[in-house]
Amino acid sequence: MLDILIKNGTYPVFPRNTMECGNVGIENGTITYLGGGEPAARRVIDAAGKVVSPGFIDIHMHEEKFRKEGDHYCIANLMLAMGVTTGLGGNCGDLFQEVDYFRRTVENLGGAPINYLLQSGYNIYRQALGIGWHEAATAEQIRQIKEKIRADLAAGAIGLSFGIEYAPGMATEEILSALTCLEDPGLYVSAHYRHDSTRAIEAIREMILIADSIPQKFQISHLSSCSAMGQMDEALAVINEAIDRNPRLDYDTYPYNAFSTRIGTTVFEPGCLETWGKDYGDILLTQPPYEGVRCTKEIFDDARANYPDMLTVAFAMDEDEIRKSIVNRHGMVASDGILSGGKGHPRAGGTFPRLLGKYVREEGALPLIDALRKITLEPAKRLDLDRKGRIESGADADITIFDPKTVIDGATWTDPKIQPEGIDYVLLAGQVAMDHKKVVNDRLGRFIPYRR
Ligand SMILES: [Zn+2]
Repeated sequence: MLDILIKNGTYPVFPRNTMECGNVGIENGTITYLGGGEPAARRVIDAAGKVVSPGFIDIHMHEEKFRKEGDHYCIANLMLAMGVTTGLGGNCGDLFQEVDYFRRTVENLGGAPINYLLQSGYNIYRQALGIGWHEAATAEQIRQIKEKIRADLAAGAIGLSFGIEYAPGMATEEILSALTCLEDPGLYVSAHYRHDSTRAIEAIREMILIADSIPQKFQISHLSSCSAMGQMDEALAVINEAIDRNPRLDYDTYPYNAFSTRIGTTVFEPGCLETWGKDYGDILLTQPPYEGVRCTKEIFDDARANYPDMLTVAFAMDEDEIRKSIVNRHGMVASDGILSGGKGHPRAGGTFPRLLGKYVREEGALPLIDALRKITLEPAKRLDLDRKGRIESGADADITIFDPKTVIDGATWTDPKIQPEGIDYVLLAGQVAMDHKKVVNDRLGRFIPYRR
């Protein structure tokens, strides 16, 4: 007897590049039946008119510091509500708690809202040694950082991330030297670029050089915030040529024309507004005492000096270029979701429904199956999750059922926690985690170590 039979839904069959109608049966956390029949099941979910998708996989999110009290999880709760069942944290060089701590916390809490994978973060360990943003690390310091990275790898990290823009003293040679501690070619490397806008192509070329110098997979992080300021056509031409030659390379992008980062970082160093062709008023602050306030020069200077960790939303990108980065034949869509004190950019709570509602349904920018591939199969392949990202017999029953006629993001620039519409059910390991905006079980997620 099946545990659950999902009837009459439409699901992607990626090898045939088609959406097909049928019934999906689940037993012991695994998809065990696909077809037109109706085998007996303890529970039947009618999915007529709905899409039965593999659970979305967010290859770039920022759950990197568990709260110590109350609900420990922040980003993961929003991920679950938008249909994500697995996410990769530790991006852009940031992992504020060591992988071993992260793993034990998930175990001690009896699970998490979604499955987690983690990268070790290079910048955090560099910063811990007191190396200034504009300083180079010495050979001895790099040796010490590598020890920390090795400990994270031993605890289950799947690779290593860099936030080059946040520590520009980190030369290409320093990055390549750090990467020598990744002995296993199966590991994963990602980087937040060195420059955006007018110097985006130069930054992309540096990342391609790094990708070509190592045996591991290399991910260019959130391409949208690097090159959707007039450089996207050239950026995609350069990247496509490089990926065709070196398939270990790829990129992710998010579906919003504003980026988000902390006001005190190097991103906002003098000259940034001129480079972007923007004004102070294009920067929205998201936390007290400036919650919901657009900058003036005075407010910008005060926030940068006195509230450096405050998250901003900077409307600096071009919508047409965002769309191009999404529909390109390469690339995945990911959230880059980050919040501080529950505030920040709506991408943390809206990315995936927005892709399916705005770009697929409303704009017809790309076919549904292509969008689904970019948020399920492609990231699963990238992360070596051979049993996820697919609706097929033997796959893990991580499943998101959504209404293609109504799915849309709810999160806004002022409230990133508004739930999306049209996400009917989210299942992890064959059990219902979310049922029409209501949490049923938010402890079904696990920490997924490398070489699981
Ligand atoms: Zn980043």
